[in-house]
Amino acid sequence: MKVCKEPGCEGKSRSRGMCGKHYEKWRIANPNAVIKHDDMRGQVLAALPATRPQLQAVLNCSRSTAAEWLKKLREEEAIHIGRWQRSETVGMFVAVHVAGPGKDAVCRLKPIPSSAYAGKYRQQKNKSERLRYLLKRAVSKQNTWLGALGVPP
Ligand SMILES: [Zn+2]
Repeated sequence: MKVCKEPGCEGKSRSRGMCGKHYEKWRIANPNAVIKHDDMRGQVLAALPATRPQLQAVLNCSRSTAAEWLKKLREEEAIHIGRWQRSETVGMFVAVHVAGPGKDAVCRLKPIPSSAYAGKYRQQKNKSERLRYLLKRAVSKQNTWLGALGVPP
């Protein structure tokens, strides 16, 4: 359990590293900071369900800001992982965060075996090698024609 960052306080950390009592004190002393903070919090919650990259795009914030918000809200049990989905990046999974408390979904997606990618890569490589060969052949044919016509290559 994380405790309040206020020296000597043993209260459970709830918001901004402070316990409820100290956060309340701080909130009254810093009204503008809290408006911004609560606003951001509301925006994060409104953006859900979302993955970290989606949240980043919606909030137009950095990767670490989005990750920190998700981490913080998960610690507060304000959100949880609803499901997992494949990311656009090869072989990666991303958590889809949803609002409300709950048990985090377990990722049951099977990674695509690397051999499948290797096969794809090989196919592409063969394709480009074939193209290179055809191009080379076309050029040499052309040179033969030009030679026959008496044009120097
Ligand atoms: Zn405290």
